[in-house]
Amino acid sequence: MALIVQKYGGTSVGSIERIQSVSERIISTQQQGHNVVVAVSAMAGETNRLMNLANQISEVPEPRELDMLLSAGEQVSIALLAMSLTQKGIKAISLTADQAGIQTNAVFNDATIEYIETDLITKWLNKGYVVIVAGFQGRDRIGNITTLGRGGSDTTAVALAAALNADECQIFTDVDGVYSSDPRFVSNTRRLKEVSFSDMHVLAKSGAKVLQEHSVTHAWNSSVTLRVLSSFDDGEGTLICENPKEVLAVTGLALKQDLFLVECEGISAKEQRELYKQYKVLDERCDCFQIVVPKATFLQLKLAFNTKIRNISSLSILTLVGDNVEGMAESACNQLMANSIDIYQYDIEPKSVSVIVNQADLQRAAEILHKTFVITEQSQDNNLMIAVS
Ligand code: ASP
Ligand code: MG
Repeated sequence: MALIVQKYGGTSVGSIERIQSVSERIISTQQQGHNVVVAVSAMAGETNRLMNLANQISEVPEPRELDMLLSAGEQVSIALLAMSLTQKGIKAISLTADQAGIQTNAVFNDATIEYIETDLITKWLNKGYVVIVAGFQGRDRIGNITTLGRGGSDTTAVALAAALNADECQIFTDVDGVYSSDPRFVSNTRRLKEVSFSDMHVLAKSGAKVLQEHSVTHAWNSSVTLRVLSSFDDGEGTLICENPKEVLAVTGLALKQDLFLVECEGISAKEQRELYKQYKVLDERCDCFQIVVPKATFLQLKLAFNTKIRNISSLSILTLVGDNVEGMAESACNQLMANSIDIYQYDIEPKSVSVIVNQADLQRAAEILHKTFVITEQSQDNNLMIAVS
């Protein structure tokens, strides 16, 4: 008998019908003789809906109260899933993160899990229950509700798998694995059978939303066997592991959208240093500099610096990820420029090459880079695969 932790994302539990179908999947895992712990996201669109309500009161809501609000979505889905299982004759119990003993630091909206007190979960498992834990939430040392950042239910699942010493952590989503780029955005993407923890980490950090970045580092540090699967189909999905069997020159192309190019003027040297530590700097002239930040950060900066800060344009970052990408930077830039795509900046780091372009050019730039550098089903069939091991 194995212990399996399964995570179901928002679209997987987006309606009562979907919740019923997730219960069937849980039941079939249990019927194979396994113990099952489940981490669940809020129903699709729910976290955005709650965020929207908060934004009608303030563009930058008070962080503690925002976590109190956003964590409510997961409480709905765990209860509905537990009801569905119980209705089908399966013993199941839902637990909030607080009840499940998930302790985090006190960083509201982006908390880190420090520790999981697993006694209660183990007690229910020993009684034969499916234990359903609210994803995305935690509690700090003094009992405040915290949340783990958008997409944080992945991290809940991995942390549970690590703390319970589970045999596998299965992340169920609406795509059947990790793709060479976002299949909803780029054509001819390819499902990857296996991806290394290190590549997956760079992909997630660079904007691939299929797994939250923290979940990958947590799985890597704790050697959790991690698999990304579809809750809509059967299939082997993608295994995230230490040493994948095939290593490609380019593993994938990650996209980060909706960034703001922000110009700052008249900010103190100390504050400037703080911003430089966290964000990409695009331009610098005596008292004036430009940085690239996510929209939410721009709103926070606006609150702090008022007229000293202004948004100039919307940008996107495309990142090629893989063991051998460093040498491709020049050719990538040439390809884009030949297609009249302006490049604000490019960066070469171990395992990644990234380019910053106008948001309006993102789709075209993504198609060009993916077609030129990333192996598709077609080029693989033509034996053009560059295996480096
Ligand atoms: N419900 C949260 C979100 O939408 C957490 C998650 O889905 O993982 O970001
Ligand atoms: Mg997600």
